[in-house]
Amino acid sequence: MPVRKQKSVSIRQTKPDQSATLDRDPCRQSIRANSPLYLQRMMGNQAVQGLLQAFIKQPEGGLAPDLLAIHAVPGPDCIQRNGMAWAMIRMLQARQMYNDFVRSAERYGLPVRFLRRVGRDYDISFGSSSAVNTWLNSMTLEEADLESASQMAPVSPAGEGSAIRTIYEEATHAYLDLASDEPGFNRFIGAGERHYEGARTRGGTVTTDPGRVFQEAAANYVAHRVSVWWSTFESLSIYTSMTASDPAAAGRLRQMNAFERLRDDYNQQMAQIVFGYSEEGGFLGLGSEQACTTRAMTAEMKNFLDHELLEDKIPDTFGAVAGFQELLNQAGITLAGPEAHGGAAP
Ligand SMILES: [Zn+2]
Repeated sequence: MPVRKQKSVSIRQTKPDQSATLDRDPCRQSIRANSPLYLQRMMGNQAVQGLLQAFIKQPEGGLAPDLLAIHAVPGPDCIQRNGMAWAMIRMLQARQMYNDFVRSAERYGLPVRFLRRVGRDYDISFGSSSAVNTWLNSMTLEEADLESASQMAPVSPAGEGSAIRTIYEEATHAYLDLASDEPGFNRFIGAGERHYEGARTRGGTVTTDPGRVFQEAAANYVAHRVSVWWSTFESLSIYTSMTASDPAAAGRLRQMNAFERLRDDYNQQMAQIVFGYSEEGGFLGLGSEQACTTRAMTAEMKNFLDHELLEDKIPDTFGAVAGFQELLNQAGITLAGPEAHGGAAP
């Protein structure tokens, strides 16, 4: 007689998550349409569309065998094909993709210490939008973002920058929540919230929620820097490999000042210090709008985030990134002109 092992699966019930939910950034810094990073993002968006299409084509209502094969789940055959088991598998998949992403990001030199802590202390699941719930210690991320980020590779023009930005944004919210009792973080958060008191929105009104502006400023800042670093690294990897394999392409890239533009674009992006928004207007959370702040963060705030979260791995200038210089040296490329800080590209 077959013995059926009863699996007891407990999954946290999803609750409506309003007040403690932090969502994505409406104030994304605009990037010039002719910049290499802009092209990167466009390519990235197309790649994400492709992933979505591939996912939609999978049969619904059953287990997707290829997904299970990639993100191996112990004993899928024993698991009943019901909603609960499926939900559990999906959570395991989300966590697996997150862990894959963290490992890759570390290999490429990105700061991952705080991502690991969040991975340990927060539930991670797929959601229709990216959000963090600080009451339930849960983070939802879109599957397309996790999939894209878990397969990050600099030489394929997939443009994972946008997915990486989203994950770092949400993980920063989660980490500030987890670390808020530590004295250093407690002081940092208190000072940051006071700093945005009286700050004006782009619409000219005074923010009603300086705490939220601070939260979003910190998360947007961290996410912005990591994604710009990654997109620059990706473009640089592609350009240098083209240079090595195709002399004609190498000539064209030099003619376009492609490398210098990449450098100047990086420096310009890294000079940005105005981030954050708050929900304004509406009543009891209904009908409000996300209003971007006009107030720059303080030098103390920047230094704290650069050191504590970014581990001093994302410098202000292109020339200070050892990995970028190494790629250029290997390709025998010397950049023309002085390194401008936020200067205009030719
Ligand atoms: Zn946010």
